[in-house]
Amino acid sequence: MVRKIPLYVDHSKDGLTDTKCGTCAMRLTSPSARFAPCAIVEQQISLLRGTCNYWIKGPASSPDKASGSKMTKETAGYVLRDKVVCSTCMHYGPNYCKLWQAKVRPGDCCIAWED
Ligand code: SF4
Ligand code: SF4
Repeated sequence: MVRKIPLYVDHSKDGLTDTKCGTCAMRLTSPSARFAPCAIVEQQISLLRGTCNYWIKGPASSPDKASGSKMTKETAGYVLRDKVVCSTCMHYGPNYCKLWQAKVRPGDCCIAWED
């Protein structure tokens, strides 16, 4: 049983293996399989290695959903990493989150991921 953690992403339930821009609803449609613009973060984002504090699962958005004033990557907490899940987070102990003091699974994630 997993205790409620704010914005906890149950990857087994969602059919995901990671929490990257490529599965985020804020990414805008792009002809590239690797890079795309984001609706709320400046510049191009990496679909395969990028993520930020505003990740939310969903299909790509159309370009008209882009915000007029996007935040910088630094403000969004944007990072490039190979794997963004509980097991690669600084708060992770074996099957336990030291930040939220709750049981977690190594392949899941939440908005507070940090390395
Ligand atoms: S930069 Fe953040 S908000 Fe934009 S697509 Fe990536 S995870 Fe989503
Ligand atoms: S280990 Fe990290 S990513 Fe996982 S729930 Fe805790 S803070 Fe969130």
